[in-house]
Amino acid sequence: MRDAVTDVDVLWNMLKLPKSQLQAAHSANRLFQLKVPLGFIKRMEPGNLNDPLLRQILPLGAETVSAPNFSSDPVADLASNPIPGIIHKYHGRVLLITTGACAVHCRYCFRREFPYNAQTASRKHWDIALDYIQADETIHEVILSGGDPLTLSDDKLAILFDALNDISHVKTIRLHTRLPIVLPERIDQGFISALNRSQKNLVMVIHANHANEINTEVANAVHILKIHNVMILNQSVLLSGINSSLTSLIELSHALFDIGVLPYYLNILDKVSGSTHFEVEESQAQALHTSMRRHLPGYLVPILVKDIPDQPSKTWI
Ligand SMILES: *Cc1c(COP(=O)(O)O)cnc(C)c1O
Ligand code: SF4
Repeated sequence: MRDAVTDVDVLWNMLKLPKSQLQAAHSANRLFQLKVPLGFIKRMEPGNLNDPLLRQILPLGAETVSAPNFSSDPVADLASNPIPGIIHKYHGRVLLITTGACAVHCRYCFRREFPYNAQTASRKHWDIALDYIQADETIHEVILSGGDPLTLSDDKLAILFDALNDISHVKTIRLHTRLPIVLPERIDQGFISALNRSQKNLVMVIHANHANEINTEVANAVHILKIHNVMILNQSVLLSGINSSLTSLIELSHALFDIGVLPYYLNILDKVSGSTHFEVEESQAQALHTSMRRHLPGYLVPILVKDIPDQPSKTWI
């Protein structure tokens, strides 16, 4: 993570990108800073501003375009926030915001505007969050989210796993993380030792949007996790110019299956300010999804979902 590229000029030089877009990139970068691990940059094609991996992390002038239905909290998380660090919207599951940090800054992320400093369940807030979970017997799954929970140290994760072991109505711990994709080195012995302390069912939802993200290092990380009984699923966001074609979506499902991962959700973009250029019309999304069903076995078709505020679950499209 320390080696991640956070300087726009450095990225431009590394990938030999056209200088014409540089000024706009600096402007967009002031709204949300560039951050991308070196290993992820290596999977990009130099000189190609339209590379599907580059587009996910590239600050662009288009981000300064505003639109009336794009806002800073599009999924209304702040309305379902009983105590700092907990988001309890759905029956049986709570989301624990363990950290605001990510290994990569995805330009389309709906959390790019989230007030992490106030909302992160940092160590001192964890006890309050754990008390909340302990007090509600309907909670059977705790989702570690963020930010990215795998940016936490192994020691902190071990403390969380130990504490959750003591809550008997919690059956499953789920981790939502991009690190096995963007920084697969994170799945090391120390992490596995922390993970092995947990006595709960373990689910990891990784986040790849394009087949080019999956390389040998990613396959190895997934393999190690699977040996340790972690169920691994993938979620993607449908992103214009990145994966909004039938070919690209089919290739992604196949590439995931090749490394033993099943697609879970294909998310309709949350309308966060600065992401208008990633939008795919819902009718087009639906048409793509229908075509996927004609080309793939059911188990390789992700569920197309949308996060609509005030709904008791994700909405299936
Ligand atoms: C998406 C989400 C979940 C998980 O939903 P699943 O359908 O179980 O994957 C839980 N809590 C919140 C707040 C969410 O946004
Ligand atoms: S929360 Fe996930 S999607 Fe958002 S910036 Fe972090 S890794 Fe990317």
